[in-house]
Amino acid sequence: MSFGSKRLDDSFDRWVTQTPEEYYGTEDEDEEDATFDCCVCGAEECEGYGNNPDPVKKKGRCCDVCNTTKVIPARITSLSTTKKVDRRRV
Ligand SMILES: [Zn+2]
Repeated sequence: MSFGSKRLDDSFDRWVTQTPEEYYGTEDEDEEDATFDCCVCGAEECEGYGNNPDPVKKKGRCCDVCNTTKVIPARITSLSTTKKVDRRRV
């Protein structure tokens, strides 16, 4: 303590007591930007980064609900369809 200046101690206390988000900028602002419009059901400003809607849609992002109820079943259907085509060829 005898070597440290008062000013340095203050800035160090501030650095220690603040969370990294407060010190470098809030991460909440970044999360607010991480929204998307669902290209399948049209829901706007869904939170998060969305899901790949392929094969229902070739572009854009879809919400978790559409991913579970539409995209995944469509993938299973397209997979089984591909297998049937392969079997016919053989
Ligand atoms: Zn959706």
